[in-house]
Amino acid sequence: TFETSLQNTKSQLLDPRNMQLLDGKSCSQQIRREIAQAVDGLKASGGRVPHLAAVLVGNDGASENYVALKVRDCAEVGFESTLIRLPDSISEQELLDKIAELNADDAIDGFIVQVPLPQHIDEKKVILAIDPSKDVDGFCPENVGNMTLGLPTFISATPNGIMELLRRYQIETEGKHCVVLGRSNNVGTPMSILMSRNANPGNATVTIAHSRTKNLAELCRTADILIVAIGKTEFITADMVKEGAVVIDVGQTRVPDSSKKAGYRNVGDVDFDNVKEKCSYITYVTGGVGPMTRASLLQNTLEAHNRR
Ligand code: NAP
Repeated sequence: TFETSLQNTKSQLLDPRNMQLLDGKSCSQQIRREIAQAVDGLKASGGRVPHLAAVLVGNDGASENYVALKVRDCAEVGFESTLIRLPDSISEQELLDKIAELNADDAIDGFIVQVPLPQHIDEKKVILAIDPSKDVDGFCPENVGNMTLGLPTFISATPNGIMELLRRYQIETEGKHCVVLGRSNNVGTPMSILMSRNANPGNATVTIAHSRTKNLAELCRTADILIVAIGKTEFITADMVKEGAVVIDVGQTRVPDSSKKAGYRNVGDVDFDNVKEKCSYITYVTGGVGPMTRASLLQNTLEAHNRR
């Protein structure tokens, strides 16, 4: 269980030479159990269960996989889910019409539109079309603004999942130097904002770095907490990490691997085998940030349901 994992972590850390895994898998299972209990409570009181809809445009392999997992997660915690599959050939207007329909559908608490979208569809227009109260991905400007101001909101699933992991493992972040590598709208940028806010976790001094950053290795070496979201396999090597740092690897790149049933394996942005020797805590791919991201979407969906 997550409690056992936390206990082991704390006791093993008494020896400073020991690195500990931040086990997103067991942590996310704990969150799912909590959500399933909440759903049981809703059912027992005769209430409606949360309902998530996912829109999948086209047949991108990774997207198919992500959406299938989201639907499976819903079933596991007792949510209803609806998968809306649309062909690659759908026009932008047809997709916007579908979004308007979902916005107006009282049976749906929240929905996501899986990205990337085909090139002829403007992702920004799609995000702007989603009703913020149903935007469980937390991508709409209103939700991003609320997050920035510390107001109630839906926080993008990946940064939210990382914050939850730090919170549940009681990682000290206050006053630490946190380097966030990557500035995407859905991961790096919200991550940097959340870590800098006056909250716990938070209160870190944050540097956000990207492809134009100079002296990246030197900068990374100053990080007490290093969060890497760039999508470059094993980019962070041991020489870029400070002794005792907390390292969060968001990266997840498919690399062909004929020894795997799927024909590929997911590789992170961190050279785990070598970096782990220097860390106090580290996540691993795929049992770290990935499962926490999935659990976060469920948390946001439950929240969307409860707000209504
Ligand atoms: P993205 O939109 O492609 O953004 C990548 C960011 O990394 C950009 O800000 C880019 O800088 C920066 N970057 C790229 N190469 C760099 C380099 N050599 N040095 C420094 N910075 C560099 O990617 P994303 O959506 O944030 O995703 C990042 C990774 O996380 C991907 O592997 C993705 O699959 C993974 N991911 C995992 C989860 C999960 O649940 N585990 C969720 C989301 C994403 P510029 O802005 O200057 O171009």
